[in-house]
Amino acid sequence: MATERTFAIIKPDAVKRGLTGEILSRIHKAGFSIIAIKSKWMSIGEAQGFYAVHKARPFFGELTQFMSSGKSVVMVLESENAIGKWRDTMGATDPAKAAPGTIRRDLGTSIQNNCTHGSDAPETAAFEIAYFFSGHELV
Ligand code: ATP
Ligand code: MG
Repeated sequence: MATERTFAIIKPDAVKRGLTGEILSRIHKAGFSIIAIKSKWMSIGEAQGFYAVHKARPFFGELTQFMSSGKSVVMVLESENAIGKWRDTMGATDPAKAAPGTIRRDLGTSIQNNCTHGSDAPETAAFEIAYFFSGHELV
């Protein structure tokens, strides 16, 4: 299986609750390399652009308000099968339905406040990485 990169966010709910270190520790233990990382307070426009795929969904307004409500940590992670592996490490979108031992199950508080984001396919990973990072940050 080939080395792959994915895009990850520690969302504002987790940053505000002081969970950044715990989540970074889980990322290291799962075997990812952190290729790039920075703190980012998204504007509402940046959040709307990032989640544009969900703009017709009833929760879009609430989601983009939430994602622009404070600082996030945005990252590029690398490993074999990084996209699927990071989604497995996070667990299902709704913490109540996520498997025990996953980030969302252990640390998430609601379907919206679910601590982390992960790309869902190679095309979305490429879009999301380029949305927040320039080429010179990805060497
Ligand atoms: P993400 O894209 O953040 O990694 P995901 O791919 O597991 O999460 P999506 O369906 O893409 O889930 O939803 C994007 C985000 O929108 C979710 O992570 C969550 O924060 C929020 N969300 C999803 N469904 C709901 C809902 N029914 N009510 C409120 N917020 C929701
Ligand atoms: Mg998604």
